[in-house]
Parts: sequence; structure tokens; C-alpha cells
Amino acid sequence: MMSCIFCKIINGEIPGAKVFENEHVLAFLDISQVTKGHTLVVPKVHKENIYEMTPEISRHFFEAIPAITRSIKEQFQPEGLNLLNNNGEAAGQSVFHYHMHILPRYGKGDGFG
Ligand code: 5GP
Ligand code: ZN
Repeated sequence: MMSCIFCKIINGEIPGAKVFENEHVLAFLDISQVTKGHTLVVPKVHKENIYEMTPEISRHFFEAIPAITRSIKEQFQPEGLNLLNNNGEAAGQSVFHYHMHILPRYGKGDGFG
């Protein structure tokens, strides 16, 4: 999708700080980090939200998640992690390419919640 910012990161048209990549998914640091190591995981195909995700795309997507979380845990040493996916403006979605936020947590006052 030409105008999609995450498709542009996937295609290398604009830079993204890559955390993990395989054939199906890309994980990169959020440009505006809520906590240190705040990462976004996206399918490489453009799907606007969870309603558009097919079982096959979902399988590839969720298969990659544990390895990505382990790599974030190793790199940033958080005390905990939140996974968060917003669907629809009313739920806080601002980029309309499906993505999962991985939020490393460092205890009270870490900036989230
Ligand atoms: P949403 O609000 O849709 O769940 O999350 C979108 C996220 O994308 C936000 O946390 C925002 O900071 C991040 N974001 C928006 N534009 C860019 C960008 O160009 N590069 C990166 N790395 N993150 C972005
Ligand atoms: Zn896209």
C-alpha cells in the first residue's frame, strides 16, 4: 500500500530500527517510545486491522512473537512485558497497518499505565 508508513518501512523506503525480521514479519522500534525498547511487530503484507488478518498470516505473525519477546527481554532486561494491539480509531489505532506493540515494563513510573 503506497501511502502506508509501515509498508514504507518494510520496503526500506524509510528507515526503521530493526529488532527482528523473517520472511513474514518485521519488528522495529517505535519512533516515539513509551518505554525503553518499545517495539512494533507487523506482518509484511498490508492488513489494516485484526479483522483483515487471515489464519495463515496470523499463524506466521504469532509464531514469530515469542522469539521477538525473548530478544527484547535479552536486550533491554525489562521486569515485564505488555503486548497490545489497537483496532480502530476509537481503540487508539493511528497507523492502519496491523501491528502489535511490545512494551517492556520496568516497574512503577516507567511511563506506561
Ligand atoms: P497505534 O496508535 O496505531 O496503535 O500505534 C502506532 C504507533 O506507530 C505509534 O506508537 C507511533 O509512535 C508509531 N509510529 C508512527 N509513525 C512511525 C514511524 O514512522 N516509524 C516508527 N518506527 N514508528 C512510528
Ligand atoms: Zn501497510
